[in-house]
Amino acid sequence: MEGAAQEVQREFPRLGPRKLKDENTATRAIVSGDRMEIHVTDDAIGRYFRRYQLGLRFVAHGAKAKTTCEWTGLTSDQLLTLCKRWGFDLMKTPRGPAPSSFHDFFDSKKRRAEAALFVSFCRTLGALPARTGKDAAVRLPCIENGERLCEAFEAFREWAPTSTLTFEHAILLARGVVQAELITLAQCPNCDGAMLVGRIERNQETCGLCRLPTAASS
Ligand SMILES: [Zn+2]
Repeated sequence: MEGAAQEVQREFPRLGPRKLKDENTATRAIVSGDRMEIHVTDDAIGRYFRRYQLGLRFVAHGAKAKTTCEWTGLTSDQLLTLCKRWGFDLMKTPRGPAPSSFHDFFDSKKRRAEAALFVSFCRTLGALPARTGKDAAVRLPCIENGERLCEAFEAFREWAPTSTLTFEHAILLARGVVQAELITLAQCPNCDGAMLVGRIERNQETCGLCRLPTAASS
């Protein structure tokens, strides 16, 4: 483990043992005389690098700085340093408040279908917890869920490369489905496909993409 700790310090020379500390680690520093030894567990090193890696992934997907910090646990200074180091311009990340209206997902049939597809990817890849509710939504931002959310978003973008669903909207969707107050994922009674259902939206009897059976065909 000594080698791994040295590697971290080489990579981030200004990093002190206190900054390495993580809520789930056994990181500790022992000062003996003038010498300081850092003891870091595999888990500490792993989470440390995952945090930074996830930060880059979020920024690459166009997440706002505030969102990235919230999900990764990075401070704004750490994120700034990370972006400078890897050539990302934080000033180019989206400005203004994060999207907050679920109405955006019901603008068109295509948008509603894409939202349902993204949530389906989230479910398939385990990005959403089994529990729903306000507390579950508050607990959603963390490294593990962030990684799975990125996987779901990347899979979604491969499936729907022309989609205009932004990463911030994807996060809003994930939160909304976990909170399960204003939107939820349901099954289309006509085609059995996944469909997004909003509490205040209209015309949601079916997914909107399937054709209802006509009197002649039934
Ligand atoms: Zn349908």
